[in-house]
Amino acid sequence: MEKIKYIRQGDKGKLPTFAWKINNTCQYRCSYCFVDLEGEEDPQLSSIKKLVMLKLKKIDEPFSMELLGGEPTLHPDYKDIVEEFIGFNNVKLLNIITNLKKDMSFWEDHIKHPKLVIQPSIHMEYLDKALEEKLIYLNNNYTLMCNLMIHYDEKYNEKLKWILGVLSDLNIQYEISYLYDINNNKEVMEYPTSIKEIVANRDKPQASLKFFDEDKEYNYTVDEVYNNNLHHFLGWKCNTKYYTIDHKGYINRVCDVNSTQHIVLFKGISKIPLTCAQKSGCICDEYLEWEKWKDD
Ligand code: SF4
Ligand code: SF4
Repeated sequence: MEKIKYIRQGDKGKLPTFAWKINNTCQYRCSYCFVDLEGEEDPQLSSIKKLVMLKLKKIDEPFSMELLGGEPTLHPDYKDIVEEFIGFNNVKLLNIITNLKKDMSFWEDHIKHPKLVIQPSIHMEYLDKALEEKLIYLNNNYTLMCNLMIHYDEKYNEKLKWILGVLSDLNIQYEISYLYDINNNKEVMEYPTSIKEIVANRDKPQASLKFFDEDKEYNYTVDEVYNNNLHHFLGWKCNTKYYTIDHKGYINRVCDVNSTQHIVLFKGISKIPLTCAQKSGCICDEYLEWEKWKDD
């Protein structure tokens, strides 16, 4: 294991990505939520939106957008934002990361376009039967990719089994997301065995992550990576081009604490790899999609 010097999952040509937290309001209050949620929308949101969109429109290379929050569908200009991004030539994919709380009529009226990917985050604390109907509709009308947030409390085990069955029966694409312990150095939560077994025994084959050692290739599942602590890259070079923009218009390249600046000062996507300074395991690239390598 120690000899492995290079890791890449998926396509080397992964598009630079901007994850824009367009608001910080939400209908839910998940116990593990790390967003600093507020009760009402900030009246400044519409002017910040204009600044961010002006800047992103000028980027002269293709990229992927993620809209998240809070809950992005609550933004007063949500519809305009989606329609504008679809019209941008440089935006190749537009991912909507939503809790799916809005009712069916919202999704029935929602714009449909090949660039759009609806990415519901499924939260066990708010799971209800209405979700199934929405998933069926969305799966028939959009590219759908769910994120199943695995709760660490065994009292949700029956719900977890139910939703895994629904996703499997409907043949819906999904990824498992483990929660981080925000009180314990942001390591992945320690999960009870019963939960690990339910997750391990699910129908869906897990995505495989590729590691390389010289010319040898290793394929590990996400569980194998995390169970064997293969997600530690302190000192490695990392070519992440994942940027986050907050609801006040501040942008940074994830993991580069010195890169935070207001969007009006943003000069474009960096070509320089970072040196990973994360001591307790990679938390910014859950599926290890960005190329990483260890210099000799
Ligand atoms: S749905 Fe997301 S933003 Fe809303 S409370 Fe839950 S984790 Fe936080
Ligand atoms: S923590 Fe950040 S810099 Fe380190 S490997 Fe993960 S994405 Fe790259």
